[in-house]
Amino acid sequence: MNISAQDKTPHVSRKRIFIGLLGLIFALIMVFILVGGWVATIGLNHLHPGLTLIAQIIAGITFIFLSGIISVLILSIIFEKELPFTHKIRGLGIKLFLPLMEILGPRLGISKERVRNSFIETNNRLLISGHRHKIPPERILLLLPHCLQMADCQRRITTSIANCKRCGKCNIDNLITLAENYNIHIAVATGGTLARKIVRDHRPRMIIAVACERDLTSGIHDTFPIPVYGILNQRPEGPCWNTLVDTIEVKKALQTFLRTK
Ligand code: SF4
Repeated sequence: MNISAQDKTPHVSRKRIFIGLLGLIFALIMVFILVGGWVATIGLNHLHPGLTLIAQIIAGITFIFLSGIISVLILSIIFEKELPFTHKIRGLGIKLFLPLMEILGPRLGISKERVRNSFIETNNRLLISGHRHKIPPERILLLLPHCLQMADCQRRITTSIANCKRCGKCNIDNLITLAENYNIHIAVATGGTLARKIVRDHRPRMIIAVACERDLTSGIHDTFPIPVYGILNQRPEGPCWNTLVDTIEVKKALQTFLRTK
């Protein structure tokens, strides 16, 4: 469903990248705890034997806690089912594990773009499996990047998308039609600051966002806990220039989350 023009890797493979990196981060953290705990134990034993026991208990609790949250996250990704605490753990994945993956991935030959792509795919799957209640249209925001607008168009659609004269030369026209049909909010942002302002103004319960890997990832990160379903744009003329989006994909996402009655 969510396959961009830039990365046609099947979604199962993209999930594997995320799960693989998550497993590796878990293993590295465990090695760090074991080695750090062992070194600390030697030092603490000289100070007081009781401190060694305290250090071992802290290391044990950290191990159990991290094993638990990473196991739940991996199982919910594999089975695409919401398990206990998945929502809170998704937050940890966004805030803690994603930055670590962006550091680790390129060192293993996986570009940041592919890491982000796998994260967006995984995030979308978790949102689909975890949503229990359909969302009323007035609480859904369709957030678009400025680069979807035709580069030579003079209309100031970032001030108000109603300024589009609907000439049909870019996807904005079709997306406005979609927003009108479903009665949802739609807005265009030039960057993170304006996107955050739009989100503050509209106070949506869910955002369906179109952007590149980098902007979608930072958007998902910045707006958490508001769920963001990410749709990658297509860049036939290169980044940030006359980009496109599959409007059918946007429509499918809306139909998944929108309350229609
Ligand atoms: S549909 Fe036409 S008027 Fe509207 S933003 Fe695109 S190019 Fe400009």
